[in-house]
Amino acid sequence: MDAIKQEIESLRTRLTHYAKQYYVYDTSEISDFEYDALFRRLQELEAAHPEYDDPNSPTRRVGGRVLDKFEKITHRVQMGSLSDVFSFEELHDFLDRVAAEVPDAVYSVEPKIDGLSVALTYENGNFSFGATRGDGFVGENVSENLRTIATIPLTLPEPLTFCVRGEVYMPREVFNSLNAVREREGKPLLANPRNAAAGSLRQLDSKITASRKLDIFVFNLQWGDLYADRSNPDSHFEILDRLHELGFHVLTDRIRASDYDAIRAHIEALGARRDALSYDIDGAVVKLDSIAKRAVVGEGTTTPKWAAAYKYPPERKETKLVDIAIQVGRTGVLTPTAVLEPVRLAGTTVTRATLHNIDNIRDKDIRIGDTVVLQKAGDIIPEVVESLPAKRTGAEIVYEMPTHCPACGSPVVRDEDMAAVRCPNELCPAKRSRAIAHFASKAAMNIDGLGPQIIDLLLDRGLIENAADLYKLRVEDLRDLDRMGDKSAQNLVDAIERSKRAGLERLIFALGIRQVGEVAARTIAEKYKTLDACFDATVESLCEIDDIGQITAESIAEFFARPESRALCDALKAAGVLTESIAAPKGDRLAGLTFVITGTLPTMKRDEASARILQNGGKVSGSVSKKTSYLLAGEDAGSKLTKAKELNIPILTEAEFLAMLDQA
Ligand SMILES: [Zn+2]
Repeated sequence: MDAIKQEIESLRTRLTHYAKQYYVYDTSEISDFEYDALFRRLQELEAAHPEYDDPNSPTRRVGGRVLDKFEKITHRVQMGSLSDVFSFEELHDFLDRVAAEVPDAVYSVEPKIDGLSVALTYENGNFSFGATRGDGFVGENVSENLRTIATIPLTLPEPLTFCVRGEVYMPREVFNSLNAVREREGKPLLANPRNAAAGSLRQLDSKITASRKLDIFVFNLQWGDLYADRSNPDSHFEILDRLHELGFHVLTDRIRASDYDAIRAHIEALGARRDALSYDIDGAVVKLDSIAKRAVVGEGTTTPKWAAAYKYPPERKETKLVDIAIQVGRTGVLTPTAVLEPVRLAGTTVTRATLHNIDNIRDKDIRIGDTVVLQKAGDIIPEVVESLPAKRTGAEIVYEMPTHCPACGSPVVRDEDMAAVRCPNELCPAKRSRAIAHFASKAAMNIDGLGPQIIDLLLDRGLIENAADLYKLRVEDLRDLDRMGDKSAQNLVDAIERSKRAGLERLIFALGIRQVGEVAARTIAEKYKTLDACFDATVESLCEIDDIGQITAESIAEFFARPESRALCDALKAAGVLTESIAAPKGDRLAGLTFVITGTLPTMKRDEASARILQNGGKVSGSVSKKTSYLLAGEDAGSKLTKAKELNIPILTEAEFLAMLDQA
């Protein structure tokens, strides 16, 4: 073996050992500084010698490869679920049922981590792959991401082959600091550590996962042998002990017990400590400890009969409701939110809670200044369960919903039979993201590659404020977004450019006017022919169109009467978006020809010229290439003119273009 290879392997062994001591056994045998120095040395050697690559090298902990998608993995042993019990009576019944089959039953009682279940498969002592639970039968291969979790051993001290199941979770401390950063950046907060862990584990870029500092508790042996020379112990409890010995982070706080009182006492003790733990638990699991006896008790239709999950009731706390704030959601619904005196609840500091809607506030008689009871259960956002009128001082204020949208000032409307109060303004800034996503959608302007995620990033960075701003985006603006890169950025710019010629009917649909679907948009485009004409349309003339009733007509007229609509449509037109109907070509004189238009034409606007080309069966392109038939150039033509000259593309003036159209 050459010296380099030897050094690499020695470094890997040492780093693996130190990391295991630190993360799994809580002991440091080496300073952080020394560890970092060894780690860097290994990184350098691996970079210089890719021939000694190993997917289980400790350097893989920091993440690396970016995937296109996750591969599906069929679990060799199903990753099942347990039946829940919600009271100690139900727990007692469960124990009686097991005792009927196994009189001397011994149980393992352990916390139930509120995380994300994964299966880790090892072959000959090496981490081979890991998968999410999925539907229990088929999960996704998230090996790259699992490798970044410091407490998952990548190599075992013995060449064993087996599969374990564990719960990946995000420590509360990590969750809280992640949310603190998101709050500073004005991003929506993550609901709870479990969702955050799930989102982190499903990142295609494992570097992001690595930054999330996930952890795992291993709680079950799925299949395989834990010893090279003897069989597995017939005890779940001892199996976990053995897994810990092999370097896994296994559940702590577990006991073995056989009688109801001891089991109940441990469950209650775990529940009482819940707040102080560094991770979320949502229950306690009681399992028959003997693997052999589990077979005697057997399986139910969907869950085993030898185990039960006791679910803790949601935690409740009292605090003071200081104010009620209004949030305008993406659909324009105004949601009242309680602003609270900070209180610790289920491991996180809660300062806000949802009040759902005004009817809920009235039903529960919640007033500003009230002492209220909060509850947080699972992934539910904290909610106000009730107010405590007995604690009132008389200074409390009865709340009324605002009459105007706090985001845009439009008068709000309350839908018939619905508790929701809504901002009716299609162009309300609170609804921008959704409005732009609709604008770009396939049936509307059909801008390929402009999904909600990209739109949110563009809005967050202030690159766009409305749909018209899309047409100002340049490749430079886009390439760093979401690791898009030059090619995707160029494709998106091209798609946006192409959408300019989507036509009036798509444009009307894209504006997102309430009640106006694709069919109504088409009939409006047919009748009015230009967007400008739509602004003059009256409710009466709109009602003359088949399929357009009074309500739709009013909604359309209302939309076009708003100054924001005028501003948006003017901006779209100025950007070069075709605002005329291209319903049917009037001729085929230009069939097979592709035009590029540049500069300012003497009499025609560019979108008019586009419309004429399309009406005559021609095509319009945004950029000059060898496929361009003609460049229609006006004054101040720039790079497109230069390019056309280089490629010897014929250049037309407006007069020549019009003459071409007039030819028989
Ligand atoms: Zn509004």
